[in-house]
Amino acid sequence: MFNPLNALLGLFSLDIGIDLGTANTLVYVRGKGIVSNEPSWVALDKGHNTVLAIGAEAKEMVGKAPHNITVIRPLRDGVISEFDITEAMLRRFIKKAHGQISILPPRPRVVVGVPSGVTEVEKRAVQDAALAAGAREAYLIEEPMAAAIGAGLPVTEAQGSMIVDIGGGTTEVAVFALTGIVISKSLRIAGDELDEDIMQYSRQKYNLAISERMAERIKINIGSAYPLPEERTMAMRGRNLITGLPEEIEISSIEIREALSRSINIIVDLVRDTLDETPPELVSDLMETGICLAGGGGLLKGLSERISEETHIRAWVAQDSLTCVARGAGKVLEDFEVLRRALSNDDRRHPGGTAS
Ligand code: ADP
Ligand code: MG
Repeated sequence: MFNPLNALLGLFSLDIGIDLGTANTLVYVRGKGIVSNEPSWVALDKGHNTVLAIGAEAKEMVGKAPHNITVIRPLRDGVISEFDITEAMLRRFIKKAHGQISILPPRPRVVVGVPSGVTEVEKRAVQDAALAAGAREAYLIEEPMAAAIGAGLPVTEAQGSMIVDIGGGTTEVAVFALTGIVISKSLRIAGDELDEDIMQYSRQKYNLAISERMAERIKINIGSAYPLPEERTMAMRGRNLITGLPEEIEISSIEIREALSRSINIIVDLVRDTLDETPPELVSDLMETGICLAGGGGLLKGLSERISEETHIRAWVAQDSLTCVARGAGKVLEDFEVLRRALSNDDRRHPGGTAS
């Protein structure tokens, strides 16, 4: 039913794209760009299961919180279906997107990117949570589709294009044509697993226990998937498992590449398997359009070279690869008539929402 008051409110309201990533949650506001970029962490009071902190503030508590507080990553740990947590996260980010400028209650249109692996129950929880958190209209989009739009791939065209989005918890590969996903595959091996690989390598080779943060720093600084023009070394600090004492070891990019090789091979195989199942007509398109890498993991040194070499298709890293999903989700609202087919669900509105 047409409600003029809501229609009027709609004119003043915001369009927001949210990337609920396993590692980072980003918020994009039309006309403003990325307004929030925080780790996807939530701190909970164990006894009452209430949310104590979200984002950077929650991540700060990791490894330091007293026993009555647990700090979790809802998307990685698979608790996204827990309504209260998801709602609290979305409420916080929607509020942040509105900032101080708005005198109106936050009633934005929201597109949320969700990993393509999430269940229907989880999708429903995210959408209901977005509505409960104040969205006037809430839509979901599969992350690879959002990433492709954000990366500027020609998803609406007949010509095929491909994205490889490597996040913290998942790697997703998808081929697009005519505003749809023709084929997609995903894997629970991504950035976090690479950190694990480095921790394990250091334990096995040097009896050195290092933190997740140390491992991530090493991965970002000297990790690679292909020989580097100049190999490098870095100081790796941890605790010697035999002496129990702190220790520092000089580790080389060649060793780290070896540590990462098993997981990287699995990711490369996923890309090859996807190509294998892609109809030949589209494969020939991809030889022109190439393979676009997105997400934080897409930034791993030498990954595009490695994928190019193994697929014989040019691969490159999207510009601003960490923000592609949020920007792509937001772009759907900007060009709604053309891109609404890219959404993964029927639109669901707030009971008092406008009809169009
Ligand atoms: P998600 O979408 O799952 O939230 P992101 O796309 O934000 O994940 O990527 C986060 C992952 O990317 C983390 O594992 C992080 O360590 C990794 N990452 C970020 N920058 C780099 C880099 N320069 N090289 C390699 N990995 C990176
Ligand atoms: Mg992502």
